[in-house]
Amino acid sequence: MSYCSQCGKELVQGAKFCQNCGAPVESAAAAGTGAAGDGSASANTSSGDSSSASYAGYYERQNAQSQNAQRQNAQPNYNYVEQDIPSTGLNVLAFFLPLVGLILYLVYVDSTPRRAKAIGKFALIGFGVGVALGIIGAVIQGAVIASMFF
Ligand SMILES: [Zn+2]
Repeated sequence: MSYCSQCGKELVQGAKFCQNCGAPVESAAAAGTGAAGDGSASANTSSGDSSSASYAGYYERQNAQSQNAQRQNAQPNYNYVEQDIPSTGLNVLAFFLPLVGLILYLVYVDSTPRRAKAIGKFALIGFGVGVALGIIGAVIQGAVIASMFF
């Protein structure tokens, strides 16, 4: 298994470009040694914007050196990663309709796992609150009915 030299993400076997950041995949032999040196070269080939090529090269080198997951937040390839941020509207929906939340979780878990996790969490909370209210309601009804007979 090999990893992207730009963002450190696991690479699909045989892929020519990183699925996460879109950087060209280097051969396995060069991956370990050429990370810093290839930064400018890959920036020149992959970035269509030639006016900011020097800045992009500098930016890529900085990231190649730090090689941590924070790059995911700043990485510019929006084609592959659609907005994986929690959705307040879907969270509220999941809270009030936990079954819908569960379905939404299953729909989103592959494409946007962070959003799916937030939806799943709110669905669980909503389900728990619903169960708690149901139990409280049953206890109150029981007490009312019992008080009529005793
Ligand atoms: Zn990458």
